[in-house]
Amino acid sequence: RQARQRYLTSLYYASDLDSHDPAQIAVIGELRNAIDRNQLCLHYQPKIDLTSGEVTGVEALVRWQSPQHGLLYPDKFIPFAEQTDLINPLTYWVVHTATRQVFAWKQRGLDLELSVNISVRNLQNPRLSSEILALARDAGIPLERLFLEVTESAIMTDPFHAIDVLGRLRDVGIRLSLDDFGIGQSSLSYLKNLPFNRLKIDKAFVMDLEEPSNQVIVQGVIAIAHGLGLSVTAEGIEDQEMLERVAGYGCDYGQGYHISKPMPAEQIPDWITRRRRPLAAS
Ligand code: C2E
Ligand code: MG
Ligand code: MG
Ligand code: MG
Repeated sequence: RQARQRYLTSLYYASDLDSHDPAQIAVIGELRNAIDRNQLCLHYQPKIDLTSGEVTGVEALVRWQSPQHGLLYPDKFIPFAEQTDLINPLTYWVVHTATRQVFAWKQRGLDLELSVNISVRNLQNPRLSSEILALARDAGIPLERLFLEVTESAIMTDPFHAIDVLGRLRDVGIRLSLDDFGIGQSSLSYLKNLPFNRLKIDKAFVMDLEEPSNQVIVQGVIAIAHGLGLSVTAEGIEDQEMLERVAGYGCDYGQGYHISKPMPAEQIPDWITRRRRPLAAS
């Protein structure tokens, strides 16, 4: 009991994983129930076209409304899901829920791209591409409106396998984004060889654009990505100055608290309407 309490405290501060720790096994059990009991929910963060200011899509971000521990953010439970096969049903639930939501918005006249995050362990699931294809088809979402976001570190875990699986996803028409670019073991040769459509510059660089070296890095990354035929999203835009800087560098899309924090699905239509109104008036 004490071990479990200690572990639950550690949930908030660290992600030191030990699959032999009975307390961790208990939380993994709670997470398994969370999916069945509908305790997971998605918040959606809008993404804008930095040239037109138009909202072009949303990123689905999972949360766990735990009866025991309150609202938990993904950094506190995704690592546990990744340790077990739970990440597969979790990702399935995320894609199922988000594709249906995007279709519901489409019926209300809001045509949005959808981005979902997938983990390295999802890439080891041989049914990944067929499951995602079926979910998108059943929800009525065209594949070219669906982006899977994969982090550099997920790819570096097993690059040859990743190249193979990502290539198959891309072949069936699913779009791929390289998430958190620049903080992992970035390799420009992987950028060249992996079948990405888009690159997301990690918020660490965007949030600290006062720093001249970060300005050089961000401009350079945008130039390289564009040269390789990838579009670029800047994440972590927290104020107007950051937005103007990345837009000035020719970055294509932006996401961040200055534009909007992630929000529950039901707030998205009103938020978009409010955002469009001043544009329509001018
Ligand atoms: P990510 O995919 O890089 O998502 C961006 C994170 O930055 C989100 O945190 C978002 O809320 C936060 N963020 C957005 N704008 C700003 C900003 O202006 N400033 C700051 N400081 N932060 C900002 P969140 O929702 O806590 O998610 C954290 C990570 O958890 C995600 O990073 C992603 O790697 C992972 N994740 C989220 N949802 C899922 C999921 O459904 N499946 C998997 N496998 N991973 C997920
Ligand atoms: Mg992401
Ligand atoms: Mg990211
Ligand atoms: Mg991240």
